[in-house]
Amino acid sequence: MRLDVNTLFMVTIYVEAILGLLLLFAWAQNTNIYAVCWWGFAHLIRAASIVLFGMYGSLPDLITIDLANALLFTAFAVTWTGARVFDGRPVEPVYLVTGAVLWLLICRLPVLTDAVDIRALVASGIITCYTWLTAYEFWRGRSEPLVSRWPAVFMLFAHGALFLLRTPLAAMLPWSPGNKDVFASVWMTVLSFEALLFTISIAFILLAMAKERAELRQRTAAMVDPLTGIANRRAFLQDAAALTKRHNGDPRPTAVLLIDLDHFKSINDRFGHALGDRVLEVFADAARQALRTSDLIGRLGGEEFAAVLRDANRDKAMAVAERLREAFAVAAQDVDGRPVCATVSIGLACCEAPALDVPELMAQADQALYFAKERGRNRVEVASLDMVIAGRRGDTPTATAIAALVEKKRRLSAISSWIRVEG
Ligand code: GH3
Ligand code: MG
Ligand code: MG
Repeated sequence: MRLDVNTLFMVTIYVEAILGLLLLFAWAQNTNIYAVCWWGFAHLIRAASIVLFGMYGSLPDLITIDLANALLFTAFAVTWTGARVFDGRPVEPVYLVTGAVLWLLICRLPVLTDAVDIRALVASGIITCYTWLTAYEFWRGRSEPLVSRWPAVFMLFAHGALFLLRTPLAAMLPWSPGNKDVFASVWMTVLSFEALLFTISIAFILLAMAKERAELRQRTAAMVDPLTGIANRRAFLQDAAALTKRHNGDPRPTAVLLIDLDHFKSINDRFGHALGDRVLEVFADAARQALRTSDLIGRLGGEEFAAVLRDANRDKAMAVAERLREAFAVAAQDVDGRPVCATVSIGLACCEAPALDVPELMAQADQALYFAKERGRNRVEVASLDMVIAGRRGDTPTATAIAALVEKKRRLSAISSWIRVEG
């Protein structure tokens, strides 16, 4: 197959411009991800630089080589800046123009006016620097689980390596005629073709990264309680179902806590709903501190929370629950200067059996929670056989309490069937 360099130039200009506009169009639809705007402009600047390269011979070298290269380096610097912006790092205006300024200064050095090889090496070095810096920025942000980060790192690294090696390779390859007729060389065709493929691939990979991030943020938002920042009911139940699967392959003692703020309605009535919200936030902070990162915590709704503690026998779970109860009582004594003195009641159920049934444990913990409320609140109760039997007989002191218990059991059995379906 023979590829004409001029045709490749025309195609590359067209493709660069279209990709630039495509990225800007994508950015206009979701202006939150500014990096896409930077990447769009990078492609447009590269299109402009290739237009200038294409005028080689018909305009002074100052424009078709010096200025064209300066624009090309700026395009790579803009892509790098976009990568920084993508991961929340600041723009570096000085480094953004360093490549172009360095190049223009070098072009003015009389000793290098005719040293084409050295100038080509400098140009390659600048492009490789920016390309590898871009790859490095994406690699640095790898804690964000975006699959498309990895092809981006790979593509940028490979493109940078090719640019760095192009001058030594050009000297070694048999089909490269050196500098005499650079536009007729096979090597030039290979480089132009690679640049075209690179620009198409990287534009789509960058677009995929931005799209993946937007989707990840949406998915996360759908799983997180916006007030407290902890898992919402749906996410908690999904995580509990996943944990059940893990447990059945590797059984460990597991405990479930059901937590309900005491007299929360009266807190709202006395201090207002906004302060009530603050109390919920204070509880979530206390829970985050009292629990390990491997534990699950979620807001089931209103002022009710649940936690699953893996690798925790009865004594350990009791100690964690007590620590959480006490920590919250201290933190919620005074909230935003108001003497709220909020407390929680906690029901605890433990499982040392090989098969874990979180909905069953939640039902048991709910009965323990009921007894914690009955026995004066601000306390932890552990589910016992008596409670389970009492709960199953509906053997509770008052008709209202029985109704509440039946309602809660009905709700938990709905959760239970949901988890089984999901699991
Ligand atoms: P108990 O000690 O028996 O649990 O009493 P309680 O007042 O905490 O229980 P109840 O279920 O009667 O009241 C729960 C209250 O929680 C009622 C509702 O207005 C309030 N609530 C539910 N969700 C929110 C919320 O997001 N923010 C605020 N501020 N209040 C909420
Ligand atoms: Mg309550
Ligand atoms: Mg409640």
